[in-house]
Amino acid sequence: MEIIIDDRSGFCFGVKKAIELAEEEAGKNQSIYCLGEIVHNSEEVHRLEKRGVKFIDRETFFTLSDCKVLFRAHGEPPETYRYAREHNIEVIDATCPVVLKLQEKVRRAQESNPQAQLVIFGKPDHPEVIGLRGQVEKSIIVQSVEELSGINFDKPIFLFAQTTKDRKHYAEIQEEIRKRLKDPETNLITYDSICGQVANRAPWLAEFSQTVDNLIFVGGKTSSNSKMLFSICKQNNPSSFFISHPDDLDHVDLPQAKRIGITGATSTPQWLIEEVAEKLKK
Ligand code: SF4
Repeated sequence: MEIIIDDRSGFCFGVKKAIELAEEEAGKNQSIYCLGEIVHNSEEVHRLEKRGVKFIDRETFFTLSDCKVLFRAHGEPPETYRYAREHNIEVIDATCPVVLKLQEKVRRAQESNPQAQLVIFGKPDHPEVIGLRGQVEKSIIVQSVEELSGINFDKPIFLFAQTTKDRKHYAEIQEEIRKRLKDPETNLITYDSICGQVANRAPWLAEFSQTVDNLIFVGGKTSSNSKMLFSICKQNNPSSFFISHPDDLDHVDLPQAKRIGITGATSTPQWLIEEVAEKLKK
């Protein structure tokens, strides 16, 4: 049996930097809070909790004062920074530079034409989208072509996507908006805001999954990106299995176990992938 770990697996650089900062702060033996799950992977969250990082939700954050809080890679709206300033909260800002640039583009777009509609293709309750919405007074969030009915097609549109969205789906949204606008050439400005770290993983996994007999995909149960990437693996290699923990291997039946590939999402820690490989060897 040959075990092949996908050499492109592991965290994206934005999440990697956020986790390094959390570890650094926890290592100083001071109390450090992190606003929201640092990554959609409970194994990684538990590991950091053991090191002393306290994860809090938004509601709890807005009751704190005189402490240190890490803002994760997804970014935050201005009101979160404002509250921190007013309540003596030291911010350890791990917002990914890609997200920071996107927030700036959203602000600039609105400043350039306050009459235009700002449309974001994303999940309304996703932290990155909450951060983006907070940059402007008004925005319209859409998740599908069916939700485009909330847009006024007589007005110009700036169109953005959450960085982790699927490129194909975004292209469908763009196409549909173009069809409905009277003069799409002048009334629609689209931004290619999907992050390459995520977008490039999908075509790579389609390729990688075909090079092995069986594929183990390690991902968080609540991570939508994990689910999306796993479905690509499954389409390209029907003998693909989704697990979240090495112990889940006990329930996996590997029928032609000659070459087994192990991979994960951009939110899956490399140490977890290696633990899965170790367990598989045993
Ligand atoms: S997926 Fe891209 S934008 Fe999101 S945190 Fe990672 S590097 Fe940054």
